[in-house]
Amino acid sequence: MVSTAIMESMTWKEVEDRFKETKTVLIPFGSTEEHGYHLPLSTDYKVAYEIAKRVSEKTSALVAPPVCYGVCRRGESFPGTITISFETMKSLATDIVESLYSQGMRNAVFLPGHLGSAQLVSLELSAQELYKRHRDINLAIIRLPEILKKLPDGVMDELFGHAGEVETSIMMALFPEDVKMKEATKEVPGFPSHLVLRDSRSIMESGIIGDATKATRRKGEIMLDLFVSEISNIVRQLEGRTPPKGI
Ligand SMILES: [Zn+2]
Repeated sequence: MVSTAIMESMTWKEVEDRFKETKTVLIPFGSTEEHGYHLPLSTDYKVAYEIAKRVSEKTSALVAPPVCYGVCRRGESFPGTITISFETMKSLATDIVESLYSQGMRNAVFLPGHLGSAQLVSLELSAQELYKRHRDINLAIIRLPEILKKLPDGVMDELFGHAGEVETSIMMALFPEDVKMKEATKEVPGFPSHLVLRDSRSIMESGIIGDATKATRRKGEIMLDLFVSEISNIVRQLEGRTPPKGI
């Protein structure tokens, strides 16, 4: 019988015992970032953490406490957004993995709920560095938008965005008490293709990209089921793959 293994609620003894059953740890990465008028700053880490907990239920993998900060340069001028540097993010990911590796972890799954390009590149570079240091470690970086491409046609009107239909629906399914649906907006800011923006707030009102008014709890549940089943498969793939191929 598989049971969840949420590290923040476990004793060190329980973690030690769990490492005899599994060598896999899911590490949720979020951000503390503006998510429009209707979603809390915690959206990204709460979503990543909750998905990780559900994957743990299916796979017995451990779940590390979430990293609540991310690289969020775009939203920096919205009050409450706290950004860390690219280098800090990379070092943080590497340090967390090194620490767990020394205790027996061999498969690490980075699960970023915040998907800024700098955040993803910092995780990728951390993974490459860890591969160079350890021949017996396996790493995965989950790209949630890639998983969403597997949704049947007609479920969602938009698959990308920020605090739009996708994230709002997921939050409605997970934490309905956190969603201020009356404040939900639709906004499609005109980001210039080539210019580097000094302050994205100058071209955004609410801070969202997409149409949050189309969100429903049901859409969120469908996406969550897909995420959990796909990520559980990725965990099983990782666990059957030692040493890693392709490096
Ligand atoms: Zn988000």
